[in-house]
Amino acid sequence: MRDTIPSGVIEALRGAKSVVVLSGAGVSAESGIPTFRDAMEGLWAKYDPMELATPQAFAQNPEMVSRWYDERRQNCALVKPNPGHHALARMERCLIERGGEFTLLTQNVDRLHQAAGSRNVIELHGSIWEWRCERCGVSREERGGPFGQYPPQCACGGTRRPGVVWFGEQLPPKAVRDSELALGRCDLFFSVGTSAVVQPAASFVYLAKRRGAKTVEINREPTPVSDIVDWSIMGKSGAILPELVDMAFKK
Ligand code: NAD
Ligand code: ZN
Repeated sequence: MRDTIPSGVIEALRGAKSVVVLSGAGVSAESGIPTFRDAMEGLWAKYDPMELATPQAFAQNPEMVSRWYDERRQNCALVKPNPGHHALARMERCLIERGGEFTLLTQNVDRLHQAAGSRNVIELHGSIWEWRCERCGVSREERGGPFGQYPPQCACGGTRRPGVVWFGEQLPPKAVRDSELALGRCDLFFSVGTSAVVQPAASFVYLAKRRGAKTVEINREPTPVSDIVDWSIMGKSGAILPELVDMAFKK
């Protein structure tokens, strides 16, 4: 069961000059990448993500934490963008063709948006493909097989960590600044597949509203944002987004 798309949302997208989309783990769920709530299965069932995805966890047990992230990196290598990712890439192309603007703020670390063809993507939580040396700071994209040694080592002798933002860490300042600039210009804001409880992303809907933008949520279930937005659409992003883009931009 899912909601039908309100005609107001279709009209808002059709008339929008500047669209900002905030995406979360839910958008990648249909590609087979579990959200954190679902990721702790099998071997990892006894762990709490709050205990693995922290700088303290890495300091205490770099072997285990880097192995967990490397498994997740291997999983990301096996999956493909789903219709929700493709629809967002199409939304961007349609808006640009009309002289509009589009910015995708993602909390996902899997780069599936880029794989689907999205261009203007801001990675708020970094990327699981980038691994950074804690000593010399050099970061490199790793697309190969499992590291085989945990934690992976840098040529300088330092320890390398996944280039993701852990709980308790600052978001990349430039990503936050660029997000705020885009939100300050937008006339339509979507929150898609995110529980919208983690700051600063949780505040983005308020920034958009303050700017006077119309706001929309797309999620499988209600979230704290549901009562704040102009329209909350319950359903899977992989079904709702393609239909929305089809309806807004049909020739
Ligand atoms: P989250 O807070 O973004 O929560 C996921 C949300 O997606 C939930 O509200 C859920 O109801 C919704 N959802 C699930 N399936 C959906 C679907 N098919 N369509 C629409 N909505 C759906 O994310 P989280 O899992 O709590 O993860 C926290 C952080 O961990 C993320 O922000 C990210 O940094 C990292 N993470 C990234 C990935 C990824 O890159 N794919 C996956 C897991 C976790
Ligand atoms: Zn180094």
